[in-house]
Amino acid sequence: PLPVVAVIGRPNVGKSTLVNRIIGRREAVVEDVPGVTRDRVAYEADWVGRRFTLVDTGGWAVDAKGIHLRVAEQAEIAVELADAVLFVVDATVGATDDDEAVVRLLRRAGKPVVLIANKVDDQRTEADAAALWSLGLGQPWPVSALHGRGSGDALDALLEVL
Ligand code: GDP
Ligand code: MG
Repeated sequence: PLPVVAVIGRPNVGKSTLVNRIIGRREAVVEDVPGVTRDRVAYEADWVGRRFTLVDTGGWAVDAKGIHLRVAEQAEIAVELADAVLFVVDATVGATDDDEAVVRLLRRAGKPVVLIANKVDDQRTEADAAALWSLGLGQPWPVSALHGRGSGDALDALLEVL
């Protein structure tokens, strides 16, 4: 079986956009409005000849129970099943309480993590990515999932830990 890479992070940070970027197709559903319920979806991916299964997550609903719990639950299941994690943060927003909650979960899980500082569409927002060193997960990789900027370097980093 192929190694499994889970893509986790808050709603709307660009997880599905990143998945589409990596698989080179538009199969993962990109939502402008967060909170649409979706199941976890797995895709076969490869980077420079290394094949892996890429799991997009986003299957939660915003409801009366609150988004915090839902995000943590979803991330926890995906991380349990994964060999490595792409943790996506919106660099233009910065680290939120939900992001910090995911970090604690990742620490407990002990799986290798590549921190994706997404929505770094241009040089101007590189500093936003650097601010995510504060999460304590090592190097934040500045990426624009939308335009492809930086995604190659981030994938190289993923292969290093896979
Ligand atoms: P998900 O909920 O984490 O799966 O996020 P989506 O992939 O559905 O993206 C949410 C929104 O962010 C969509 O409007 C995307 O077009 C936008 N988005 C995703 N990646 C980027 C990026 O790198 N730059 C910018 N500017 N927008 C992005
Ligand atoms: Mg999504």
